[in-house]
Amino acid sequence: MAKGRPILGAFNQGELPTIACFNKATDPLGVDFDALIAAMQAYVDQHVVPVWNTPAKLVKTKDFVKKAWAMVFLDDSDQPGALAYHDLTPDGLPLSKVFVRTTIKNGDLVSVSASHELAEMLVDPAINMMTTGPDPKIIYAYESADPVEALSFEVNGIPMSDFVYPAYFEAFHKAGSEQFDHLNKVTKPFQILSGGYQIIFKNGKWSQVSGSVSKAKSFAREDRRGHRSEQRPMAAKNKLRRAEPQKIAQAERSARRFSS
Ligand SMILES: [Zn+2]
Repeated sequence: MAKGRPILGAFNQGELPTIACFNKATDPLGVDFDALIAAMQAYVDQHVVPVWNTPAKLVKTKDFVKKAWAMVFLDDSDQPGALAYHDLTPDGLPLSKVFVRTTIKNGDLVSVSASHELAEMLVDPAINMMTTGPDPKIIYAYESADPVEALSFEVNGIPMSDFVYPAYFEAFHKAGSEQFDHLNKVTKPFQILSGGYQIIFKNGKWSQVSGSVSKAKSFAREDRRGHRSEQRPMAAKNKLRRAEPQKIAQAERSARRFSS
């Protein structure tokens, strides 16, 4: 391996990624951006790392930073340039998108959405991990926040997403024998809580199973463009695309021209 090249393997073995966090949303986040980044850093250090061993250093930036992973906050996927962020940073590194307007419209908190994406990006940075599970005809996506999506706990006084533990994805554990999620609400492997869901591969197709009828309904109403659930089928076809900063800048410029 060439010296100095980042390791892109899942579980981030052998590297401590820097994650550039930048806010391109025009809508208010509902939380102070610096406080959110500090809380997410504490979330990673104190809660995620002891379980998944996936450290990261979060920094506030104004845009993509070379050799850093990224988390960008956007209004929604209709924001000018939003779709040109695609799936990866311009360097081909993991990229998370947090859709602020979509989140708030959905009655959710930006801090919970952002920490959800963060936990999932750290556990499966290339959006390509999956596992066998209780149903031998199904392959289950390694998404660490989806099954417990509705639950949160406070870090530095800011609500952060619950996430599942490695034992969650190990079907051989007996109910109640292990801790399966951080808040200890899941009692057995692959259980989906009522506000959660799971991305699965069945009969040659990607789809999702919801933990409840109401979750299935709200899921159907949601704008899912740009979400990991949409990226996973693309990853399976080796089609994750790098962000195009020029296209983003162009779209932002022409939007400014229109509005002035
Ligand atoms: Zn998710």
